[in-house]
Amino acid sequence: MDTRTHRVISPGRVNLIGDHTDYTGGYVLPVATDLHTQLAASPADEVTVYSEATDDRRSFAVDDEQPSGDWTDYVKGCYAVLREEGYAPGGFDGDLSGTLPLGSGLSSSASLELAVVAFLNDAYSLGLSRERMARLSQRVENDFVGVSCGIMDQFAVALGQSGHALHLDTGSLEYDPIPIPDDVRLVVYHTGVERGLVDTAYNERRETVEGALDALGAEASTQLSEADIEDAGSLSELQRQRLGYVVRENERVLRVGEALSGGDLETVGSLLTAAHADIAANYDASCRELDFVVDQAVERGAYGARLTGAGWGGAAVALVDAADAEAFARSLHERYCEQFPDHESRYHLVTPSDGVRVQRRS
Ligand code: ADP
Ligand code: MG
Repeated sequence: MDTRTHRVISPGRVNLIGDHTDYTGGYVLPVATDLHTQLAASPADEVTVYSEATDDRRSFAVDDEQPSGDWTDYVKGCYAVLREEGYAPGGFDGDLSGTLPLGSGLSSSASLELAVVAFLNDAYSLGLSRERMARLSQRVENDFVGVSCGIMDQFAVALGQSGHALHLDTGSLEYDPIPIPDDVRLVVYHTGVERGLVDTAYNERRETVEGALDALGAEASTQLSEADIEDAGSLSELQRQRLGYVVRENERVLRVGEALSGGDLETVGSLLTAAHADIAANYDASCRELDFVVDQAVERGAYGARLTGAGWGGAAVALVDAADAEAFARSLHERYCEQFPDHESRYHLVTPSDGVRVQRRS
């Protein structure tokens, strides 16, 4: 029998549209997933945590800030960041399980961070808002684990809403839930290409567009139009190309939000597919596997599809009718496996769900 005092359900996230916009203060449109991490836990003096995914039980003191170079850093980092902010939660004894795959572009890392922070928030009455938990979890990843990600993942995991995507302005952190019709699913297709060179390419893109924003004196990409960029003599050709994509992507996020609210799935789909073409041509963030998935998805009747996440491998997302989603994914998978028999590809059907939630056993 499970005698733990708490059960935390922490979703993953998939970004429907708006990639490489979050480090420019741009727009994103993530969805919290029904695929989730579960943490069953009770307060304790130390931290003892078992993960089913890694089949590993680990113990450490709550003030152990020595990075281990493995998954426990996502847990240690929560304590380190909370302590920096003046909180002193105790330990816990817990089991991690759930349905969210690790490293499949569904942000299991943010899911794990929020599961731990939300548990500590409840068990030790820290009084943190969801937004604050999202920001602190981002710092766990940036400062302790050493992954430079934007706020999108943690924000979606903390504030997602069932049946909705979250329109988020990553500059102001203003957000707006956008309804997603019940009768569509998001199919997340992981190409099996692990993004080996991603850090270098990601940092390069980031430098280019951050430099371009500086040259234009803009704080956020949302302040700019395409005309501003075309007319700017201070930008290099490459800066114009990269920032041009970002500005058009912001515009598409807004238009997808409007089309979703109006139930116009055809328009949503064509914007997704256009976004893929743009990120491939002007941000050089695609690869032949992602292009193949997008082409095949559209051919198989998806409303639209695009790479999701940083690109250069990883996953694509397709918007499809719920009734056909399973058959669609299976047929896409068959075709992909024929084309790339050596790739360990996989797919997941996603239903938009609520953000992290804590159940307490009294
Ligand atoms: P993603 O966030 O897209 O799934 P990342 O590489 O950012 O991929 O994060 C995956 C890492 O997060 C895993 O390698 C592991 O270290 C950690 N992680 C996430 N969920 C769990 C879990 N349930 N158990 C153990 N480690 C986990
Ligand atoms: Mg991650």
